[in-house]
Amino acid sequence: MVTKTYKSHKNRHENLLDLFPCALYVIRDTVVIDCNNAAVKIFGYESKKEIIGRRLYELSPEKQPDGSSSIDKGEKIFKNALGSEDKISFRWMHKRKDGNDFPADIRIVNENGTLYAVMTDINETEQLKGQLTEKDYLNKDLMPVFKKILENTSEGVVITDTDGHIQWINTAFNKITGYSLPEVKGRKMNILKSGIQDQHFYNEMWEQVKNKGTWSGEIWNKAENGELYSEWLTISSIKDEENKTTHYVGIFKDLSEKKKIDRRMAELQQKDLLTGLYNRGHFLQLVDKHIKTRKDNERFSVIFIDIEGFREINSSLGHHIGDKLLIEISKRLLLVIKDNSILSRYSGDEFVILSKSIGEETDVVNLAEKLLESIRQPFMIENTVLNIETNIGISRFPDDGRDAETLIRYAETALYKKNGRSEKRIFFYSEDISREIEERFRMANLLTMAISNSEMSVYYQPIFDVGNPKNIVGAEALLRWDNPVFGRVSPDVFIPLAEKTGHIKYIGEWVLEQVCKQINLWKQKGYGIFPIAVNISVEQLEHAEFCKRVMEIIEKNNVKPDNIELEITERVSSGDLATIVKNLKGLKKYGIKFSMDDFGTGFSSLGQIDLFELDKLKIDKIFIDGLLNVSKKQNLVKSIIAMAKSLNLTVVAEGIETSEQLLYLKEAGCQLGQGYLVSRPLPPEEIDSLLHT
Ligand code: C2E
Ligand code: CA
Ligand code: CA
Repeated sequence: MVTKTYKSHKNRHENLLDLFPCALYVIRDTVVIDCNNAAVKIFGYESKKEIIGRRLYELSPEKQPDGSSSIDKGEKIFKNALGSEDKISFRWMHKRKDGNDFPADIRIVNENGTLYAVMTDINETEQLKGQLTEKDYLNKDLMPVFKKILENTSEGVVITDTDGHIQWINTAFNKITGYSLPEVKGRKMNILKSGIQDQHFYNEMWEQVKNKGTWSGEIWNKAENGELYSEWLTISSIKDEENKTTHYVGIFKDLSEKKKIDRRMAELQQKDLLTGLYNRGHFLQLVDKHIKTRKDNERFSVIFIDIEGFREINSSLGHHIGDKLLIEISKRLLLVIKDNSILSRYSGDEFVILSKSIGEETDVVNLAEKLLESIRQPFMIENTVLNIETNIGISRFPDDGRDAETLIRYAETALYKKNGRSEKRIFFYSEDISREIEERFRMANLLTMAISNSEMSVYYQPIFDVGNPKNIVGAEALLRWDNPVFGRVSPDVFIPLAEKTGHIKYIGEWVLEQVCKQINLWKQKGYGIFPIAVNISVEQLEHAEFCKRVMEIIEKNNVKPDNIELEITERVSSGDLATIVKNLKGLKKYGIKFSMDDFGTGFSSLGQIDLFELDKLKIDKIFIDGLLNVSKKQNLVKSIIAMAKSLNLTVVAEGIETSEQLLYLKEAGCQLGQGYLVSRPLPPEEIDSLLHT
């Protein structure tokens, strides 16, 4: 068992350099001696071997856009970089394997004769930014095109003025409702009213359109011939530059037709279209059938497989990659299971197996381990190497349940035991879990009263200069909850709860308020340990008002914005990017700093790091643990530091527990540190005494 845990650790860290999201090259004597997967992908190659041993300026067109020879110019730049301590950045035209040129931003730093280069594809970064300023593209040339699209779409479209008088409808509107434009122009939308929804429904609908700008839902309407039909309607307000509503647009799909087709399709299909596996509905039937026809006393298991981070893959690499990955995963799972098992795609990224006649715990664990191992081998999808981890939940017939639904639900429930920081991946359902879930419900409830009952407090953990650990240059605010029923609850438990229930919004604002007050207290005493870092959850950043609220709190307390630093995590990349970036940019303008917490444990791309305009990177504790024994970790930490320097980011190493780690980090050029070696998180009074000595 021990060796197994070690092995999975090792597997994870072998590809750590590849976790670094941007293309990076390690160069000695002008030749690339190491690089990561992103570095291969950016050039359209398949393997690192094709890049290692070459010179980057040879992977270029013969001439650069200014007419100079790529080789001459490249050699000169490398010579300069080697002779300089400073970071060098420049733009360069490269050539991909397929012969196409692409412009790139290059940043190079020199660390004792070894050059570290980071490369970004400018087109890609621009594209990312472009997504957010889509409005810029809606120039006049495109208007006639949009009109054509609206005219011809199969969905009904209606545009009204702010009083709800119809101005324009498209052909599909006419087909679905029977009304033509001359018949409805200038009339109110209530000509379609079916009488099925009451006035309260409409009031709420319009209330939401006015407040949130959009509403969607199912609604019953009446066509010109008196027939009732159900539609899926989305109403949005159209606003001008001054944010004043000028029109409303309603878009709707006729659901009556769709429902009929869907039902027919479901009857025809027992299979999931993407993977060809049995779909959820049919799988449920198969399990129930097996329960009825099984041999007497036969025990069997239901295995629930959940793919970790699938959502992130979909949102950062695109759905077509996600789809291909699911197909490959299903192929591998099929290879592992035996004839007496049935595999189904249960939903999005979830697979479920009915494993007939396997009831003994050791047999199920054996099978589950084989399944995990088969997925753990890297996937190569469109030149992208993906390292996937899965978690498995298991329930057993008849002990845990006697019908398909219960068994599958409990197999999924077992996954509840998965704890982000542990390596354990196989979980059996037990009644304890149901009890624990109940307990979490109770806890979530108590959490809503924690602040008003004065159960919350903020601790501070010093952040210090790695070169001189006595020099405390800031602190991180860490929330503590002491509850009369549950005792001290770890933030790793209650923060995720608060995120799920939405309560994090209030808790987050409260923490910020406490931090502001504390900063003022410390200022009065003449202590200058700033900035204070405050952890922010993605759920907070997804609120449109977040930026405004933070500024209000800071201003109300008279705190300088640059005394506060907000820590975000790589999870932001899979959140609502448009809102998040808007919030971050607003706060940045105001003078607040940002750091990327737990760096290296999630997914992000360089384009996004650029987009977030970070100031610091915090290297996660898992890289610092065992740093001195694992050379892969050392390489990774060194390259993170070098890359961060080239991106003008300060590096903070988290979880420093020994003086050996500290020394190592100092020599690797890491500027700041945090960890039990210097201090645990402490209540503010105890920090005071630390500053005295
Ligand atoms: P984090 O942001 O990664 O915080 C660092 C965690 O590492 C803290 O755990 C800290 O006590 C611990 N730590 C620091 N140095 C060492 C060390 O040398 N050794 C070891 N073993 N641990 C060390 P804590 O306070 O339990 O916080 C856990 C997590 O809860 C935080 O992880 C953060 O993600 C979240 N959290 C805490 N307070 C807040 C908050 O106010 N808002 C939000 N949104 N999240 C918070
Ligand atoms: Ca943190
Ligand atoms: Ca952290």
